[in-house]
Amino acid sequence: MAPCYIILYNATIPSNLIPTIQNIGAPFKARFNKDLVITSGVRTPLRQAQIMYDQMRGLSQSDLQKYMAKYTNKKAAQAALQAYLQNQGNPDAAINAMAGVFQGTVGTGNPFTNHFGPDCFDVQNNQMMPDEKQEFLRDAVAVPNVHVIVEAPKGQLREAHNLADPIPNVTVGLNPQPHFHVQTNATINPWPDTIELPTRFVYYYRSNPAPGWRTWVQVDPTTWEEHWSNGFTQKFEVLTTTYNDLGFGVIVRRLPDRKLLVLIPDLQARPFLRVTTFPASNWSFLGKMEQAE
Ligand SMILES: [Zn+2]
Repeated sequence: MAPCYIILYNATIPSNLIPTIQNIGAPFKARFNKDLVITSGVRTPLRQAQIMYDQMRGLSQSDLQKYMAKYTNKKAAQAALQAYLQNQGNPDAAINAMAGVFQGTVGTGNPFTNHFGPDCFDVQNNQMMPDEKQEFLRDAVAVPNVHVIVEAPKGQLREAHNLADPIPNVTVGLNPQPHFHVQTNATINPWPDTIELPTRFVYYYRSNPAPGWRTWVQVDPTTWEEHWSNGFTQKFEVLTTTYNDLGFGVIVRRLPDRKLLVLIPDLQARPFLRVTTFPASNWSFLGKMEQAE
């Protein structure tokens, strides 16, 4: 089975959504020979503030009001705008103040964006032909617990599918292109306060081939190497950061075959390495991460 999706803009995809993405993407790929293009996953309040700050910079007062009008949580939108205006000339302070406003909406019934939750992702659709859009919607709403919102650039929800389901309170505007917002019922723990990914660790591999200690080193932002005790080395490419029921982590994919995924947890999560084949099925235990730094 070939991969059926790509992830843009370093979007963070919760690993518990990957089977859902595959269930939607596999028939799409089989029919059109195209990958789903995932443009957005889960975001921290800080990341939300950084992206919005970049979009707001240079806008006039009236354009800033229009920009904020797209958000359904009006109170938080106005508070974020005030935070922006009161910290002009000091980007870090403005971003932190906005992030604080957004953080205050996490876990409430009215989060500033559904993307603070672990249960949604966006699929680019401005490159899809009409029949491709139709097929995508048909496949997506056939997956249990999934509904799709069609988002347009001006902030209208143009169409909702699976109308028997309640339509979630979707916030639009961050993604400039029309896209499908795919909402699921996945649940996981709250986002951690800080994220600290390792750059080096060891673990003991118990199976064949070559049981023994294996040393992992991040050699650059996109590459890890695994060194076996017999001298053999294999490379892994960074696929995406992720957030799942075990905590935050990074998913890497073995090179050159790209058929094996390893989930490296962040330093505050339980130190369990997880492994799955690609396309992902269920994650299983690979080993305990030790001497992580
Ligand atoms: Zn969305």
